[in-house]
Amino acid sequence: MQSWSMGSAGVSSGLSGARVGAVREVLSRTPRKFDPPRDERGKRLKISEFFGMNTFDLPKMKERLPKDAYQKLTQALQAGKKIDQDVANAVAHAVRDWAMDRGVTHFSHWFQPQTGSTAEKHDAFLAFDDDQRPIEKFTGSMLIQSEPDASSFPSGGMRTTFEARGYTAWDAASPMFIMESASTKTLCIPSVFISYHGDALDEKTGLLRSIEVISQKATALLELMGEKGVKRVVPTLGIEQEYFLIDRAFWSLRPDLVMAGRTLLGGLPPKGQQLEDHYFGSIPARVQAFMAECEYELYKLGVPIKTRHNEVAPSQYETAPIFEEADIATDHNQIVMEVLRKVALRHNLSVLFHEKPFAGVNGSGKHCNWSLSIKGSGPDLDGENLLEPGKTPHENLRFLMILAAVMAGVKKHAGMLRAGIASSGNDHRLGANEAPPAILSIFLGDLLTRICDELEKGTTKGMNVEAAVLKLGVGKLPEVMKDNTDRNRTSPFAFTGNKFEFRAVGSSASTSFPVTLVNAAVADGMQMMANRLKEKLKTLPRDEAIWEAIRDTVRESKAIRFEGNGYSEEWVKEAESRGLPNLRKSPEAFAELVTEQSRETVRELGIFTEAEMISRFHVRLERYLKNVAIEVDTLKQMVDTMILPAGIQYQLTLANSVLAAKAAGVSAPQTGLLEKVSTQLSALQKKRDALERQWHVAEQKETEDAKAQAYAMDVSSTMQELRQASDELEAIIADDLWPLPKYREMLFLS
Ligand code: ADP
Ligand code: MG
Repeated sequence: MQSWSMGSAGVSSGLSGARVGAVREVLSRTPRKFDPPRDERGKRLKISEFFGMNTFDLPKMKERLPKDAYQKLTQALQAGKKIDQDVANAVAHAVRDWAMDRGVTHFSHWFQPQTGSTAEKHDAFLAFDDDQRPIEKFTGSMLIQSEPDASSFPSGGMRTTFEARGYTAWDAASPMFIMESASTKTLCIPSVFISYHGDALDEKTGLLRSIEVISQKATALLELMGEKGVKRVVPTLGIEQEYFLIDRAFWSLRPDLVMAGRTLLGGLPPKGQQLEDHYFGSIPARVQAFMAECEYELYKLGVPIKTRHNEVAPSQYETAPIFEEADIATDHNQIVMEVLRKVALRHNLSVLFHEKPFAGVNGSGKHCNWSLSIKGSGPDLDGENLLEPGKTPHENLRFLMILAAVMAGVKKHAGMLRAGIASSGNDHRLGANEAPPAILSIFLGDLLTRICDELEKGTTKGMNVEAAVLKLGVGKLPEVMKDNTDRNRTSPFAFTGNKFEFRAVGSSASTSFPVTLVNAAVADGMQMMANRLKEKLKTLPRDEAIWEAIRDTVRESKAIRFEGNGYSEEWVKEAESRGLPNLRKSPEAFAELVTEQSRETVRELGIFTEAEMISRFHVRLERYLKNVAIEVDTLKQMVDTMILPAGIQYQLTLANSVLAAKAAGVSAPQTGLLEKVSTQLSALQKKRDALERQWHVAEQKETEDAKAQAYAMDVSSTMQELRQASDELEAIIADDLWPLPKYREMLFLS
């Protein structure tokens, strides 16, 4: 219990005393010394000299595998095919020796259950030989498959308790890596997690399937266009990760940050981000040291971090890698989050990945830069970006075709894509006039918009394609696109020169599911384009058929294109008149996962079965309910055990001093303040009781859907009102009585 004894200088013990202590602690901190890696002579190593030293990547495999095993492996990887048992055995032996050389004792299948983070279960290499002597053993079968006791992972009803087994299976495309901690080193084997019957229980399986599917659809479409020799197409992904950093001493005094990852209470300081002095400002020394150490750890793990900078809000930062294939980029983003979390502890910092840790201050996103790249098709084609406007009219026709497929897919599946980024955290960010709205639209930029407008009018009819392309100004695309100054930060899905930026993904989310759905939508768009093209080819020469297919699609998908301010109220109205879905809160968004159209699309593409898609809906809904429940409980406890007691204490002090003043026969100006505090306390108590009532009403709802709706509406707005009552109290109560670290302390002391 809190001690209410007050010294003359205010409270000297209890929680508010702890707050004062935390401020002192933070002010005394110095940047943690981080010793960069050096050679024997003490010279700093270049990044390239230690990049990937803890990953068992292709160069290391080449060095350590028998020639034919390495060849078979790379062939299988290039073609996206299964790995043979004998190759797996060779890899297992090589990786065991490599890992043991580095002091690794354990291995773990490393996978991504539907919790948003990763899971691992470590096993020692230890085994016994026929003579019962201890040895280190690691075989191809151990590499390929493992059976974790995984019955407690969310499956959304996919597994009944009697069929609770789940298997992890090696994903050979993603390099194995060594995770180091102070006392142990573990070989992590990137894996998928599936049920006995092969159902996807994780985030990764669907992603891998969607990568396969989009490759098939893209190559088929290109072939239909007369593009020869493209064997494989892969989605590429560059993930910009935003996060907040606050001192751990503050974090530990905030039950809301500890429990819910965001502040449930706390008033805005007079200075927020309005001065815009943080964005790209100089990085504080402590944070700089933190970033350098993170990057060192990430380079060792082969994560190609490129960029670091301050973000818009105080204490908000961003890190971004060089893009990679979507599955690898997703694994790497999971590793980035984990390394950031771990290294933050060493620096007495807490990293906050929540989408909106501080009300009234900009939230965090995870911008997914997405494109399509040719692979496994020979040196002439490999690495070609399908969303890069080309040099010839023909290449630009291809570019427009892919663009049209994206527009068709995103238009048709706007609801499903919105569902993929829905979470209780992202609800606080989307549409909050700082992040993309909950309405999905595509931004193309001036030039492409003009091209689309021209295309729509069909003014190029009758011209040969070369002339038509030139007339549209597509020939000028490459130069103009390089300078993508007209990019729109308010768009959730913006074309930025040679890729799309899906900006509405939440900062805490795994990119697997959102990107799986983007792949699915675009694969479907490609199928639509292929069907359309086939139809046209019956009566038209190829180039004209392509031209018309693109034009028809540009016309049909017009509604999804929006170049204006996505934060404005007008857009909300405009979008409504265009018939675009505006799914403000998660529960209504989740429903889009299980519409007939969504289920059918992913089933027909072979990305998710009906059951898998429905289970994803349930997992997300359940997580939403749990998150809100945790927030409500935490909020009530904070009000009951911290805020009300502090308010009552202040009221008592004031009441005593009013009495004393009156007894002394002097005026008591604090009477007004006492009134104010008492009124505010009553308001707080009332809102707190209202929350309790709303909560009970919500809990009585019969279905999870109805419950979630109640959470999203009445419960959320009452939480908001309770917060406001508390924040008003915070603004008048004596500072030394306030038990929680304040925004100005958490965000501005570093
Ligand atoms: P921003 O101005 O948004 O920070 P950047 O040029 O820094 O833009 O790029 C952001 C991210 O986009 C980086 O991770 C980068 O590697 C990635 N990116 C660039 N090209 C592609 C591509 N073709 N496919 C996927 N991601 C890409
Ligand atoms: Mg960006």
